[in-house]
Amino acid sequence: MCGIVGYTGPREAYPIIIKGLKRLEYRGYDSTGVALQNGGIKVYKKKGKVAELEDTIVGKNLHANVGIGHTRWATHGEPSDRNAHPHQSASGKLAMIHNGIIENYSQLKNELLKKGYTFKSDTDTEVLLNFIEEIKTNNNCSLEEAVRVALKRVTGAYVILLLDAEEPETIIAARKGSPLVIGVGKGEHFLGSDASPMLEYTKEVVYVNDYELAIIKPDELILKNLGNEKITPYIQKLDLELAAIEKGGYEHFMLKEIFEQPQTIYDCLRGRLDAEAGTITMSGIEQYANQIKNARRIVMIACGTSWHAGLVAEYVIEELCRLNVEVEYASEFRYRNPVIDEGDIIVAISQSGETADTLVAIETAKSKGAIILGVVNVVGSSIARASHGGAYTHAGPEIGVASTKAFTAQLAVLTMIALKIANIKGTISHERYMLLLKELNEVPEKVAWVLKNADKVKKLAEKYKDADDFLYLARGYNFPVALEGALKLKEISYIHAEGYPAAEMKHGPIALVDETLPVVFIATKDAYHEKVVSNMQEIKARKGKVISVITEGDDLSTSLSDDVMIIPEADEIVAPIISVVPLQLLAYYIGVARGCDVDKPRNLAKSVTVE
Ligand code: GLU
Repeated sequence: MCGIVGYTGPREAYPIIIKGLKRLEYRGYDSTGVALQNGGIKVYKKKGKVAELEDTIVGKNLHANVGIGHTRWATHGEPSDRNAHPHQSASGKLAMIHNGIIENYSQLKNELLKKGYTFKSDTDTEVLLNFIEEIKTNNNCSLEEAVRVALKRVTGAYVILLLDAEEPETIIAARKGSPLVIGVGKGEHFLGSDASPMLEYTKEVVYVNDYELAIIKPDELILKNLGNEKITPYIQKLDLELAAIEKGGYEHFMLKEIFEQPQTIYDCLRGRLDAEAGTITMSGIEQYANQIKNARRIVMIACGTSWHAGLVAEYVIEELCRLNVEVEYASEFRYRNPVIDEGDIIVAISQSGETADTLVAIETAKSKGAIILGVVNVVGSSIARASHGGAYTHAGPEIGVASTKAFTAQLAVLTMIALKIANIKGTISHERYMLLLKELNEVPEKVAWVLKNADKVKKLAEKYKDADDFLYLARGYNFPVALEGALKLKEISYIHAEGYPAAEMKHGPIALVDETLPVVFIATKDAYHEKVVSNMQEIKARKGKVISVITEGDDLSTSLSDDVMIIPEADEIVAPIISVVPLQLLAYYIGVARGCDVDKPRNLAKSVTVE
């Protein structure tokens, strides 16, 4: 969370920083701020989104060739002008932005308070900044040296960028646990939480690693470890185009990303799945084929929507591979002292590849001898780099805070992994294997079919937009889809929603059912269908409003439902990749109908880099 941008070079820094911050707003939008080297350090900051800062500083002299900018997701101190970054040190000579949490900040703060420091904000960031300044003044050393000494005392996660009025061309950066990319141009450098702020300027980037410190000038990039030893920067070529991070005529990124799914699922399958030859090529999985074959179990570790993808994979892998699968919330797993045996396979699922809890959880598992396979969207991200193997989801940049295309791409990858393992273990018949490859191959066109009927879902959204609560019910492979549908609605429209296994409904939630409660059933034709239909009857008998996602031609479910959303016939193993799409649309259209900011829902941020 929190987006950071920096620039040093011959161009005007302010427009680059502002544009960069707008691209990083998915990471947080509690406040925005910039610090510019303009005959001393000038800081402009404001509660709210980037556009609000822009409005308030019209007419100011913003000329500068060096600067840093921040878009905040508050952890320490309410969203306010005062707590907005950049913070300035007591002397006013240093300015700093920070993404992460300084866990021992109160201890450091007490030390500084005793020395007479006062604080303008409630943030952990201002504490670290003054701690750095205190070391710099006391030791009469360079800022770089002071940062190095300070960071040895710090626990927590951070990316920090610092400006020093005495060294107006230089930006000092350091990282542990939060992401930092440096774009290398000709006589200029760009910094960002991801590569989006630098896309139109350079395709050459350096991903800074944990415990590294960078000294960045227009024509020089020095990378060091905290022991002051130089490290040769590893420059990589970015494979990302500007168009991929723009709205392309859609009203919201979320809608664009929902509609991109036929293409993104296709991109995910492309080059891997050959339905005719009966092959799935995934080198990051193949190299661990033996270990997977002999593994006692697979543990899926994830958060949020990715956790739901893990749940679907549990059903699919247990069915096809006869292999025990457990699905864990990363935040619980990492603190539970979990039992991990050598040879356990850990699958870490994350869109951003930066999810703090997932990252730490896999490091723990790795140290105990587990094999880590990453299912990650962002190429070169921390989880991707910390994994032994795995597969990218290739969904392209996902900017809408509510995950949509990353989820379906995760399901496509996990289904391929399941089929691959089943084939290796010999737990699937050749006939079924070939059929499922064909089914998976047809998913993109079936999703496109669903999207053609988006207008019908929009009409439903109008009808149900004023409900206070929603219940989502399903069984089997679609049960995690019910959880995901409820989560989408909650985050986008702020309507309370719960997902439940349809049979569990009788153990509590049925008490909520009356004529005002919409109950969404995911009732596609599968082995559980008849049971789900009985559950529908039970809701109808209590006058609940039934909205169902059904397979084309299912007259029985249609007759029991107040409204239906139809998907084409598909094997139950791949059905979740399709049945979730109408639920994404429903959440989106309800959110829009209620006037919500669907791309930036309140309190949320994408890429959760704090625990
Ligand atoms: N801890 C800092 C703050 O609350 C940075 C938060 C973040 O990374 O989102 O301001």
